[in-house]
Amino acid sequence: MKRNGHAYDAVVIGGGPAGSTAAAVLAEKGRRVAVIERDKFPRYHVGESMIPYCYFTLERLGLIEKMQQSHFPKKYSVQFVGGSGKMSTPFYFTQHLAHPAAQSWQVLRSEFDQMMLDNARDKGAEVFEETTVKELIQEDGAVCGVRAVSKSGDATEYRAPITIDASGRDALALSRNRWRVRDAYLNKIAIWTYYKGAVRDPGIDEGATTVAYLPKKGWFWYIPLPNDTVSVGVVAEKDYLYGGGTRELGEIFEREVKNNVWIDEHLAAGMRSDDYRVTGEFSYRSEYCAANGLILTGDAFAFLDPVFSSGLFLALRGGELAADAADRALSSGDFSAAQFAPYGEELCGGIEAMRKLVYAFYDHNFNFGKLIMAHPDVRPALTDCLIGHLSRDFEALFAGVAEFAKVPPALAHGRPLVGAL
Ligand SMILES: Cc1cc2nc3c(=O)[nH]c(=O)nc-3n(C[C@H](O)[C@H](O)[C@H](O)COP(=O)(O)OP(=O)(O)OC[C@H]3O[C@@H](n4cnc5c(N)ncnc54)[C@H](O)[C@@H]3O)c2cc1C
Repeated sequence: MKRNGHAYDAVVIGGGPAGSTAAAVLAEKGRRVAVIERDKFPRYHVGESMIPYCYFTLERLGLIEKMQQSHFPKKYSVQFVGGSGKMSTPFYFTQHLAHPAAQSWQVLRSEFDQMMLDNARDKGAEVFEETTVKELIQEDGAVCGVRAVSKSGDATEYRAPITIDASGRDALALSRNRWRVRDAYLNKIAIWTYYKGAVRDPGIDEGATTVAYLPKKGWFWYIPLPNDTVSVGVVAEKDYLYGGGTRELGEIFEREVKNNVWIDEHLAAGMRSDDYRVTGEFSYRSEYCAANGLILTGDAFAFLDPVFSSGLFLALRGGELAADAADRALSSGDFSAAQFAPYGEELCGGIEAMRKLVYAFYDHNFNFGKLIMAHPDVRPALTDCLIGHLSRDFEALFAGVAEFAKVPPALAHGRPLVGAL
């Protein structure tokens, strides 16, 4: 076993958007950071649609110009299509936000994640690709680094007083410690693929995210990507998707395409260009967001149903907040879990707002039109929630939502584990 000594201030597990954000922020502050990434980038990843408030983390990372020069389709809106194929008026972000952030992007994750990881590297983080973290090193009740194995089989210890777990849905710390708490109501699965040559809406709507309903069952996403490609997937209860006599992904997907005219018509002109993919175990949150010497962030902390494209935003913002919390701990020399309580509060607060809206989305009595008709005054708060402006007060919004849908109470878990690991 090789020892990388105490060479680092921080070790980051995973070089996805959360990990590369945390690494870049810490490196920019002059901290010595090691990023341990299992794969060789560029690598495939799902989760392509960004909401407007991603802008502010990208701005802090110095990446806005690169994003503007990229070939990623520009996203000005999200639009909702009923089961009959009828489209409601798109939600144009510019109607609410007089700021460049009102234009967002649809990203090819292989390229976007590579850009993010390169940015962390450029700022001084040391990146170890094709290296898998096997376990957290624990001493005296605190995490003080990781044990990892490279592709060639070399085992190395990377030690630091603070470790940030950004290992995505593999969720290293959460899995090893059995901290995963599932959100039973949001128990869905997704089946998705990619098409080339499918229809794009004209003009400003060309890069819009479309959410197309399967009434009382689930929904489709339709996300235009570069190279005339569209990402398209169906999300619904596992029992419903697998309950029609077949478990073959292609047959299930094709069956559901026929259940929404808009999706059927948009895909008819194109050709499928990739395999069908599936994922389950949708929404969860860790029992704890931190422990002594450890912070969890991005999907490694929590995952929320992707209907409002909140994942990338929560990964970017979470990575930023985790880095700031780690930096404060490095300055004070106090790495105890209690230090990370404000981090957990802020992150969980944001996730709760999105989560309430996701619950409403799946409630058959709820739709945005009914809510706005009854309470036109909550439209700005609703739009803020959808674009990722989560640090405001949403009391009036959810009081209005509660007239049509069950609004879940905030989850009690997700705070730091105070005491020894
Ligand atoms: C079906 C589906 C659709 C989605 N759609 C959207 C969308 O439209 N918009 C949106 O914003 N979000 C979407 N998401 C969510 C989004 O994909 C995630 O929230 C986002 O990728 C989280 O980033 P992350 O950095 O936390 O994790 P990841 O991007 O998963 O990165 C984690 C990294 O850690 C590495 N890693 C894992 N284990 C180890 C280990 N032991 N050692 C070393 N490295 C390791 C992995 O290789 C990976 O590179 C979707 C998710 C799903 C499942």
